[in-house]
Amino acid sequence: MLDIAKIRRDFPALNRELYGKPMVYFDNVATSQTPRQVVSAIEYGYYNAKANVHRGVHTLSQEATNLQESARERVREWINAAFNEEIIFTRGTTEAINLVASSYCQLLTEGDEIILTVMEHHANIVPWQIQANRCGLKIKAVDINEDGSIDINKYQTLFSSKTKLVALCHVSNVLGTVNPIKEMTAIAHKYGAKVLIDGAQAVAHVRPDVRDIDADFYAFSFHKMYGPTGIGVLYGKRDILSLMPPYQGGGEMISHVSFDGTSFADLPYKFEAGTPDFVGIGAITATLDYLKEIDLESVSHYEHGLLAMATEEMMKIDGLTIYGTTENKSPVISFNLAGAHHYDVGMLLDKQGVEVRTGHHCAQPLMHALGIEGTVRIGFATYNTAEEVKYFISALTRCAALLI
Ligand code: PLP
Repeated sequence: MLDIAKIRRDFPALNRELYGKPMVYFDNVATSQTPRQVVSAIEYGYYNAKANVHRGVHTLSQEATNLQESARERVREWINAAFNEEIIFTRGTTEAINLVASSYCQLLTEGDEIILTVMEHHANIVPWQIQANRCGLKIKAVDINEDGSIDINKYQTLFSSKTKLVALCHVSNVLGTVNPIKEMTAIAHKYGAKVLIDGAQAVAHVRPDVRDIDADFYAFSFHKMYGPTGIGVLYGKRDILSLMPPYQGGGEMISHVSFDGTSFADLPYKFEAGTPDFVGIGAITATLDYLKEIDLESVSHYEHGLLAMATEEMMKIDGLTIYGTTENKSPVISFNLAGAHHYDVGMLLDKQGVEVRTGHHCAQPLMHALGIEGTVRIGFATYNTAEEVKYFISALTRCAALLI
């Protein structure tokens, strides 16, 4: 059993009041709040081990390096990767995908094909388009069914001998759809294509097992899983990463530099040019400790209770449409009120203390497929409560009365 009152005490941000009302934070899909344990770890790094990593023989630098490298080991263990060299620290999911797009695409030849899905975040579309234009690659996108699930039959028909890569989200940031990534990866591998999974929306709710999925790449951001901002991970299979050229050049990523030529460092440093946010990376250990302590499986079960309750109550509001109704759904609800603009709904909810996200959610191709411009979106985290859901429903009912 989760002790939600205790968990809430770990998140001082939840004590805020907005417009004289207790804040209800439902914008967890964009970013989650951070517990004091993680903030304390950041404070510890700044006050005790603020020395650049990998470059010093002095004690402070070695301590900072140890904090960073033990975080790498913890990430490896968390996602069940085989080797620490397969864990590359980035600024986030976006940078992780850009790294693969920039580097892996250099191994492809003109006319090769990449498969995406219609439900991808722009972070998993635009980097591929940039490289496709540069290298003469072709992008195909899989459609979705009415309930927001992937059309697997269509997916299979998109493969050809030229398909070299599939890039798809584990969980949709709009629809909440949890994609059958293991099955989709196995299909791609049958055709000899590599698979990149965008795990940005999965990692706050499930612990990915990259070896079980057999993903070639798996990307995610810590700020969405109660961790520090500005830090993400690219997992890549060692044999594939070894073949890929560096993404950025600079310090840390070289073995030797001269004007006659430069040789590059081994994995993972080959892909980690410049000074990383080593203090933030050090706090990843505290983040994963926290996730272990609250137990993601119980959290996921609890959040699904909130999802079911909110969905049932929202369906009673006249004129409300929910986008994404698959069985296997993450605790995300995107919706619109007929005749009301999503911004107006979002602003009226904010005035009642409820923080939600409005707009296209960086998924314009999906909006186009749904025939809409945007939605209001809520998402649940471990600290949300049934009382907050009830308050949200009453606030939303007031919005509907005003706007419809
Ligand atoms: N992919 C998905 C599915 C997302 O939801 C997001 C952020 O919302 C991203 C990628 C980009 O993540 P970041 O901005 O942390 O790089």
